Amino acid sequence: MEKRELVCVACPLGCPITVEFDADGKVSSVTGNTCKRGDAYARTEVTNPTRMLTTTVKVEGGKSYVVPVKSANPIPKGMMFECMEVINKASIKAPVNIGDVVIENILGTGVDIIATNYAE
Ligand code: SF4
Repeated sequence: MEKRELVCVACPLGCPITVEFDADGKVSSVTGNTCKRGDAYARTEVTNPTRMLTTTVKVEGGKSYVVPVKSANPIPKGMMFECMEVINKASIKAPVNIGDVVIENILGTGVDIIATNYAE
């Protein structure tokens, strides 16, 4: 039986998790997690791994050069590089408030890139 060992990143405890697959490659069991979040993390990680994206975006017309931003939700891990390319070319006009949408629905992922700080 195929299996994968993971470390849960859903909280700082970092539980070691074992995911076992049946002959069809479907998840047959998840063990080692201390809570339900670990189960959900492990199933997502082996089927469609996602990550939160945090970076900065250029600010135009203000005192700040950049503002920190993050994805409002996790995005597919395989799209991180493409998303970074879009974000690196983007800019937002000052003033910027926390929660402002800097890029809507980045690359059709359904996830917005939002400001996590103020910028004037
Ligand atoms: S399984 Fe639960 S308790 Fe363990 S690291 Fe993941 S979220 Fe934290």
